[in-house]
Amino acid sequence: MRNYTKHYINGEWVESTGSETMDVINPATEEPAGRISLGTQEDLDRAVKAARAAFPSFSTTSKAYRVELLENIAKEYEKRKDGLIDAITEELGSPRGMTENVHYKMGLVHFQTAAEQLKDFEFNERRGDTLIKKEPIGVSGLITPWNFPTNQTSTKLASAFAAGSPVVLKPAELTPFAAVILAEIFEAADVPKGVFNLVNGTGETIGNGISSHPDIDFVSFTGSGAVGQKISENAAKNVKKVALELGGKSPMVILDDADVKKAAKAAVNNVVMNSGQVCSAATRTLVPNSMHDDFIAAVQEVLPGYPVGDPNGPNMMGPLVAEKQWDRVQGYIEKGVEEGATLVAGGTGKPEGLEKGYYVKPTVFTDVDNDMVIAQEEIFGPVMSVIRYEGLDEAVDTANDTIYGLAGYVFGEDEEKLQDVASRLQAGRITVNNAKADFTAPFGGYKQSGVGREWGDYGIEEYLEVKTVLGMPS
Ligand code: NAD
Repeated sequence: MRNYTKHYINGEWVESTGSETMDVINPATEEPAGRISLGTQEDLDRAVKAARAAFPSFSTTSKAYRVELLENIAKEYEKRKDGLIDAITEELGSPRGMTENVHYKMGLVHFQTAAEQLKDFEFNERRGDTLIKKEPIGVSGLITPWNFPTNQTSTKLASAFAAGSPVVLKPAELTPFAAVILAEIFEAADVPKGVFNLVNGTGETIGNGISSHPDIDFVSFTGSGAVGQKISENAAKNVKKVALELGGKSPMVILDDADVKKAAKAAVNNVVMNSGQVCSAATRTLVPNSMHDDFIAAVQEVLPGYPVGDPNGPNMMGPLVAEKQWDRVQGYIEKGVEEGATLVAGGTGKPEGLEKGYYVKPTVFTDVDNDMVIAQEEIFGPVMSVIRYEGLDEAVDTANDTIYGLAGYVFGEDEEKLQDVASRLQAGRITVNNAKADFTAPFGGYKQSGVGREWGDYGIEEYLEVKTVLGMPS
């Protein structure tokens, strides 16, 4: 049982000023794995004060200093590999292999990429005697979700540190362990006191407190659309800048010349990854009428290759993060059946032999109409909706018929068609075939999927203000 009841404020581990605590449940066992304190407004105020006090010196550090700081952080992060993998597996329930290859590595790569890109980052631009100067925005408030405990925090932290902005982080209360280890990493990497502050707690108290705090200049949030809207409303009261990385209902367009087995494998892999708890998951699979039956048969063949079970065993899928999410996903599967979609795999209830733990069956619906609830709302579970199409125009129209625009995928052979679909999909990131993620390139959404971009140099820009100086002597 991890006792993580202290906050990290101004370079010290401190007791909460409140007495409330919360157990963190291991979703594979349904047993408590640790405990955190639920911070108070007073805790938050102390953290903001520390960050504000650190701003004058941190914001004027040299680029070379911050490159070295990020490199030190990456080294300390690597030293805690086993500890991070244990913590994330416990709090999230992701299978160990996935925790190592995805969660652990994504957390690391953001610090490494920020260090590399910072080296070439131009903070000053001269246009004759006009100087355009990028300066750290001030104190940043970071609010993160539970689905990628290191990726979501590291991308924000790496960008903030690269820019020279001190932060207050409130991680998701369902998965706070990795953030505590990150604080230990920053301590070991000599992050100056006050530059990183961690306050655990609820969205209601600490989250709301961050978005409405008069002394926080910028809020970077990842999570649900409903909370994103609240944060925007709060931030608007003192015209605070916000970056929002919200949900998605991303399409994968399978072209009629695609290898049906490869396409089915890519589609399944995408939708079951992290038990479907991925904002950029391709949850709507658009398949040409002519290929439909072969595609469904191929999906059924591929699915047994993704066994569900104990994250400490050789499984590809662990449980969902919490009972609340399990109930939510069951509700959507029921809704799909009610709406008349055809269930071709999975369904409601727990997989056989997995009564304990928040496990769900990987589920595939076909004959889905794009206006059904299961095609329009983010389910955040391993549920694929197969939608038939006739002709590429119909595919693109259907793909774009959503309030979201986080990601899009296109799978096939014909280069002209791949280019055409990639350019017509309205989303912040398009993946052609099995292209790997590029952490130097921006990540973020069109439409209601968000505001702003994360990752690499675009991520750093979010933590900067722009100043114009006219008549600047050279
Ligand atoms: P959430 O948006 O409620 O929580 C995300 C973070 O925001 C957490 O740290 C939470 O404590 C905090 N928060 C909650 N209320 C807040 C408030 N009023 N002000 C400020 N911060 C607040 O998400 P959730 O409940 O963890 O998950 C619900 C749904 O959100 C999921 O089913 C999924 O659809 C979506 N989600 C999306 C992403 C993503 O990456 N886009 C990640 C997680 C969840």
